[in-house]
Amino acid sequence: MQTVNRLDLLRNSVSTFRRNGETIALVPTMGALHEGHLTLVREAKARADRVAVSIFVNPTQFGPNEDLDAYPRQLAEDSALLVAEGVDLLWAPDAQTMYPEGYATSITVAGVSENFCGASRPGHFDGVATVVCKLFNQVAPDIACFGEKDWQQLAVIRRMARDLDLNAPNADRIIGIPTVREADGLAMSSRNRFLSPASREAAAALPRAMRDAIQTIEVGAEIAPVLARLHDAILAAGFASIDYAALADAASLQPMENRVEAPARLLVAARIDGTRLIDNMAVYPPAGMNR
Ligand code: AMP
Repeated sequence: MQTVNRLDLLRNSVSTFRRNGETIALVPTMGALHEGHLTLVREAKARADRVAVSIFVNPTQFGPNEDLDAYPRQLAEDSALLVAEGVDLLWAPDAQTMYPEGYATSITVAGVSENFCGASRPGHFDGVATVVCKLFNQVAPDIACFGEKDWQQLAVIRRMARDLDLNAPNADRIIGIPTVREADGLAMSSRNRFLSPASREAAAALPRAMRDAIQTIEVGAEIAPVLARLHDAILAAGFASIDYAALADAASLQPMENRVEAPARLLVAARIDGTRLIDNMAVYPPAGMNR
């Protein structure tokens, strides 16, 4: 595996792959890798000749009071994991390389970015869209793999790729990969390590409560009371607060308040033990309606 932290060296490596007629898959990450990330890497490997992984803790997607400084950084450990997966290229720029003196450009994706994490983390999706656009321009991958764990992020990136013609000429460049979970159902996250053992155990109540809510909605229950019960269950499990627990159209991310009429997503962000966790799951219209 080649590890590069300068743009000219990245471009050299990418050009060599291209000269050999090889396709490239990109897996953007912020490091502190776990099985979720490695699943993306394996999917990338199955779909392209070469796999490039980026590790960059992007400061512009963190708010002023968020966990940028505390975010785990472990390049040597991550690098060993990527070597074991047969990754070809690790792109690990520093903040100065990504945002040199005088940097002034930002991308805003309207609509899909506005609710949910966009509302509770102002500016977050501008940071995400901008850094992902830069990564696409830097690596020029044929495809890029992203986790459904960050459902709204995936929707924002898909919208941006369509709007800014970042898609590959004949295909959708963005591949979404289902969320990888711990044995007790908690979605894997680099932030799970911040939880005390007791909070970690309590956190598994979140996906359980979400599954219960979905079962009830899919047999035709009214949405608002189900979401109210979901709120109560999350707080009763030991979460301190909830940023949102909502049902939205899976593609447009517009809230669905009355009925599930199209493929939808139950989306939750909640805090436990000082850590903000997010999760989301598919919801289908009740049987008998158009699915
Ligand atoms: P991050 O390092 O948290 O920015 O995540 C990098 C990529 O890995 C993003 O596309 C995430 O959606 C994806 N990812 C993170 N956690 C998981 C998970 N548990 N399952 C699947 N993909 C994930």
